[in-house]
Amino acid sequence: MRVQTASLILTTTLLCTVSCSVTSWIAPPRDKDSKPFSSKSVTRGQLEITGEAPMNDFLPLMDELQATMGDMQDILGLSELSAPTRIHIYTSNYELEKAIRQRSRLAPYRRAYFFDDDKKKEMVILVKHTDYIAYDLRHECTHAFLHSHCSDAPLWLDEGLAEYFEPSRTEQGYQPRHINRLMRMVNTSKWRPNLTRLDKLDKSVVFDLTVEQYAESWLWAHFLINYSDQSRLLLKSWLKDYENLETPPPLSDQIRKLYPDCENRVYEYLLELNRKLAELGEIDNLPPEGELTNEN
Ligand SMILES: [Zn+2]
Repeated sequence: MRVQTASLILTTTLLCTVSCSVTSWIAPPRDKDSKPFSSKSVTRGQLEITGEAPMNDFLPLMDELQATMGDMQDILGLSELSAPTRIHIYTSNYELEKAIRQRSRLAPYRRAYFFDDDKKKEMVILVKHTDYIAYDLRHECTHAFLHSHCSDAPLWLDEGLAEYFEPSRTEQGYQPRHINRLMRMVNTSKWRPNLTRLDKLDKSVVFDLTVEQYAESWLWAHFLINYSDQSRLLLKSWLKDYENLETPPPLSDQIRKLYPDCENRVYEYLLELNRKLAELGEIDNLPPEGELTNEN
């Protein structure tokens, strides 16, 4: 496994609301309803949750997270989460902000954070207790799962898989909002998938991935997992190689080797997803995006 120090993975769905600004989070007064930190915790496998809320409330979610990580094992061909992952749930915005600042002075505000600190051999998830916490934890636990096997995977794969496993298990990675967003870009700006562009995303800085980049990352992850037996096998083989080889070949090279016209295939794949979405007439059942993001 490659060495990585203190990387910070941020998520689109975890961006703050449109109405909240970063400055409003600097030295705010303590929330009236916030409670002192409690050491109460629950554990499932390598996951440990602590926080201010009643921990028994999270037992069903813990079970679901375990099941979701079982899905990851099956789909990605990896063994179980191999590193302890501490999840801390905050009911106070101030306490969450304070905990974030202790780890990173530059991180933009989010509802949830994933920290992979290789020096400390620990993975930590900090998350606000909201109505969307199940989405948030499925997303962040995907990062933990992937980083426990492949700590330096391409950013687009890291975020694409997190977006894939973020919906509930019954959705099987389906994210209508990403399809709608990408199709709007296709129709308005003749946008097309571009793996070279995705490969250039830099995860070494405190970044602010755009919602478009999250959507395209999801599309490529969805394509690799569902397009064909060969595409899924390619992904599984690359992940396995990553665990075993000092210098794994770039995933994008492997994709182009299998499908030299991969961008065209992914574009056609998006169109097919959109056709199915139109047939279903399905309404996105996720929370309104405007309440979750501060789109650029
Ligand atoms: Zn993420």
